[in-house]
Amino acid sequence: MMAKKWIYEIKSYENYPLRYGAVVDCDDRRLLVDCAECGRVVEFRWMFASLVIQNEYGQGYAVCADCNAEERRRKDRYDRHRRYRIIRQSL
Ligand SMILES: [Zn+2]
Repeated sequence: MMAKKWIYEIKSYENYPLRYGAVVDCDDRRLLVDCAECGRVVEFRWMFASLVIQNEYGQGYAVCADCNAEERRRKDRYDRHRRYRIIRQSL
């Protein structure tokens, strides 16, 4: 299964070789699954939908809390830059 990953620097998706054991969703929330980003094995119920690693329908793969925090930091950083540029252009 090939996933895609959003790359902020180029504002585009790149193919992302998915780890075996990474999932978007699962029936048993206590199931151990692999974090799609770092590969750490975590119970599904403690995971978050990735903001950047997605399947072909745009659904985020499960990532661990640390990777989720890092994804949010990156998203905030790039959103701030975008707002800054928009403000500058409107001056
Ligand atoms: Zn992780």
